[in-house]
Amino acid sequence: MTYANQLILDGNAVADSIKARLETRIASLAERGITPCLATVLVGDDPASATYVRMKGNACRRLGIASIRVELPAGTTTEELIGALRKLNEDASVHGILLQHPVPHGIDERAAFEAIDIRKDVDGVTTLGFAQNAFGFADFPSCTPAAIMAILDYYELPIRGRHAVVIGRSPILGKPVSAMLLNADATVTTCHSRTEDLPAIVRLADIVVAAVGRPNFVRGDWIKPGAVVLDAGYNPGNVGDVGYEACARHASAITPVPAGVGPVTIATLLKHTVDAAEKLGA
Ligand code: NAP
Repeated sequence: MTYANQLILDGNAVADSIKARLETRIASLAERGITPCLATVLVGDDPASATYVRMKGNACRRLGIASIRVELPAGTTTEELIGALRKLNEDASVHGILLQHPVPHGIDERAAFEAIDIRKDVDGVTTLGFAQNAFGFADFPSCTPAAIMAILDYYELPIRGRHAVVIGRSPILGKPVSAMLLNADATVTTCHSRTEDLPAIVRLADIVVAAVGRPNFVRGDWIKPGAVVLDAGYNPGNVGDVGYEACARHASAITPVPAGVGPVTIATLLKHTVDAAEKLGA
């Protein structure tokens, strides 16, 4: 069945509404002599990671948020990376810290994440941030899960009582978005690479979140007519995890890639940096 009144969930519109609400807050901070500042930490020379970091820095600049780029060579040890993160923890001019991941093999990524001060953990990567999100009171939930929730909220798409199927269980995406949907009273099924008969489970979903890391993974015939489809995937060539054309035929609402979850993730990161500046600058 083809769904007629289909809504394309415009990530740029959602991002613009988040950023517009930050402008007066940034101006108020400026009156107090505070410029919100995001520090990004990039280890190694992965071109995609370098692009993501550059995009985040540019987004900060456009809004009047300062950004510091810390770039470390691929051979950096876990201890050296933790040392760099601790310096940023102690730097009063820095309000948010984002460690671009994945970090190169050989670094203990979890140990590095844990070194980030919870007050500056604007991407919710620490164990404490993750736990707070699961309890439903995190200051800074992971940005992509928060972006998915912001899209549902902006378009007033109902969550309570709906069956949400999340494909992916990573600590920065699948698990936290599952917790957020659960806290919003959805009935949640979280799927992963060992899930049996994934298409049959996705066919039960009112809300589908794809967070797999495989291009065009979700197929049109998996989508229940009228389901809402959110594609967190971002694969080389600007390709999502959802087969867009095929899934759009069945969905009542769907995010495109690009211009779906991606811009909202960046806007959420900016919002969290401003939130942190307000708290730390007080
Ligand atoms: P990840 O850490 O690699 O996790 C991928 C998840 O997908 C894992 O839980 C894995 O299961 C599951 N999976 C893999 N193959 C599967 C299969 N055949 N069937 C069912 N599940 C399968 O990736 P991630 O960091 O969560 O990222 C997911 C996607 O989101 C990527 O495309 C990434 O680029 C994108 N992303 C986008 C943004 C943004 O701002 N838009 C931000 C972050 C990530 P197992 O746990 O069993 O291995």
